Amino acid sequence: MPQSAERVLDHATLFREPEYREMLARKRDTMECPASTEAVAAQSDHTKTWAYREKNLAREAVSINPAKACQPLGAVFAAAGFEKTMSFVHGSQGCVAYYRSHLSRHFKEPASAVSSSMTEDAAVFGGLNNMIDGLANTYALYGPKMIAVSTTCMAEVIGDDLQSFIENARVKGSIPQAFDVPYAHTPAFVGSHVDGYDVMIKGVLEHFWDGQERSPNDKINIVPGFDGFCVGNNRELKRILDLMGVSYTLIQDASDQFDTPSDGSFRMYAGGTTLADTAAALNAKATVSLQHWCSRKTLDYAAEKGQETASFHYPLGVGATDELVMKIAALAGVDIPAALDLERGRLVDAIADSQAYLHGKTYAIYGDPDFVHAVARFVMETGGEPTHCLATNGTKAWEEEMQALLSSSPFGKGAKVWAGKDLWHLRSLLFTEPVDLLVGNSYGKYVSRDTGTPLIRLTFPIFDRHHHHRFPLIGYQGGLNLLRTVLDVIFDKLDRDGDVAGETDISFDLTR
Ligand code: SF4
Repeated sequence: MPQSAERVLDHATLFREPEYREMLARKRDTMECPASTEAVAAQSDHTKTWAYREKNLAREAVSINPAKACQPLGAVFAAAGFEKTMSFVHGSQGCVAYYRSHLSRHFKEPASAVSSSMTEDAAVFGGLNNMIDGLANTYALYGPKMIAVSTTCMAEVIGDDLQSFIENARVKGSIPQAFDVPYAHTPAFVGSHVDGYDVMIKGVLEHFWDGQERSPNDKINIVPGFDGFCVGNNRELKRILDLMGVSYTLIQDASDQFDTPSDGSFRMYAGGTTLADTAAALNAKATVSLQHWCSRKTLDYAAEKGQETASFHYPLGVGATDELVMKIAALAGVDIPAALDLERGRLVDAIADSQAYLHGKTYAIYGDPDFVHAVARFVMETGGEPTHCLATNGTKAWEEEMQALLSSSPFGKGAKVWAGKDLWHLRSLLFTEPVDLLVGNSYGKYVSRDTGTPLIRLTFPIFDRHHHHRFPLIGYQGGLNLLRTVLDVIFDKLDRDGDVAGETDISFDLTR
């Protein structure tokens, strides 16, 4: 046996052992009906051509490696940002296992969520009984202060009505009459996790705000949006707001939920916006979203309630942070503290220090609409060129917004925007119009390997690197971390390309 108690191998090395190589070769020969090696190589070469790219871009019937997740995943993430809240997903159990594992593998933390476990009978007769039993079990077993209900495809296809189901569950005594159960319909066959985030936040606000009298104050609500870097980002945001002396409520804060300490106690719930603060946020002067495409319905709702609203595109780098800080200062009626001016100056200085390595670098950026907008803006700020900007969940309106951003700088001149395209499309783009660097999540790993383009992992989900999400990207301090992350990849490539002694190592030194 390749593995024993004395010699425990990780899966990365285990499957390189002869026994496994033989088994995989047998499987290939007997079960996979393989084409010849030559035919595979010829087809592989064809996928790198312009002719294949055109066919690939014309593809409509199927998505391959889309850079997005489904709506309920966004709703589960949203719910994790409220005090002692358990996500209850009405639908099939496997879907919820997927959301939990996705969040867990990214944050390296437990991610709790329950399901109404609908199966064949519920799919035919409706899932009311599953909701009645499920809410009772969740309330009794997990001791939440709030249960946030969303839906999977299955419940949406059969048209289960959450409001009446939850009312029925109350009548049947599953939960106390006054217990907080906000809900959002999150049909997974339209939109993406950013829409699921939006409707769940709106659902929570409606639950606490509808029918309440508003008595305005000077506080500002901030909605961070779906953010795999919430642990680092939300803490940085709070530091900036405290420094500015702003009175605020973060509406949805999962930074503690996804960063619990190892001290012997399991915390099913940690931190989050308190339910009292969420209810009182109705009285705020304004609601500001850090991610426009994650909060359109939420902001419309806040505006209906009489609040001022503003939205940003995930403020990374100098210009975007400037706009955020100035807007918040104006809304709150405070001055921008000198400490922030200093931080800004240091970020500008750091970008200038590294100009020789940043200027003219070309990038392909993929991810959520706000993230792609943010990174493209930051890249242009550093003198780089965002050649391909791709959001599977981007819309026509996003495309137009991106075009406006790109035409605002000479560095955006050659850029192309790809709304609705996936990472298999991106592979074709990179073979035909290569770039220096790829920015996105872990799912770009194969595109990176196939095309030889170094991958900078900056957004959800990141499975194959650890702890990046604990450090901020937003704000001036976050900008430094972002800059360092990009530069590390540039320098690693420079070293790799120059490591043959006596041949390519002219610049492989430490004394330039
Ligand atoms: S797309 Fe539908 S079936 Fe797939 S995980 Fe999402 S809700 Fe479940």
